[in-house]
Amino acid sequence: LITKSKLKKRVSELGKEISNFYTNQEIILICILKGSFIFAADLFRAVNTNVKIDFLEISSYGEEKISSGKVVLKKDISLEIQNKNVLIVEDIIDTGLSLNSIYKLLEQKKPASIKICTLLLKEKKHKVPYPIQFVGFKIDDEFVVGYGMDFGEKYRNLKYIGILQES
Ligand code: IMP
Ligand code: MG
Repeated sequence: LITKSKLKKRVSELGKEISNFYTNQEIILICILKGSFIFAADLFRAVNTNVKIDFLEISSYGEEKISSGKVVLKKDISLEIQNKNVLIVEDIIDTGLSLNSIYKLLEQKKPASIKICTLLLKEKKHKVPYPIQFVGFKIDDEFVVGYGMDFGEKYRNLKYIGILQES
């Protein structure tokens, strides 16, 4: 669906957009594990402002392809984010259920701002009550893998993003 070179180009553009948006301000990227670890690593290096990174792990899908809506916090962030600018880095927003839970969790820590960056957005399905400021690609409602994203922990290491074929 998206080649390695298209990913590289778009991530670099997102890095510039984010750097311009936060000129002279500190940002804390919050990488949502595990799916966004590769995207976040590339994006982190494409941002040229004062940037820090932290990691939050939640589980929502298990080994399934449908969001359960039940989100379990597996690993909390370790940086202090009170009065800081937080940028949530997601691999993909499908129903938006995971993101809603993450947002609420982070809001409780009283950051100065929370913005969202997602590599992929399944536009037709998501129900997110706030704006998503930075979007890599809008895609159709297909199950995708690669560039960090998995199906049953497989395919994360693909350098491109592909559509999982039903078999
Ligand atoms: P949501 O809660 O339905 O928005 O799903 C969010 C999470 O489920 C994402 O952060 C991914 O980790 C995972 N996910 C959703 N759609 C896909 C997909 O097409 N491929 C792989 N993972 C997905
Ligand atoms: Mg995810």
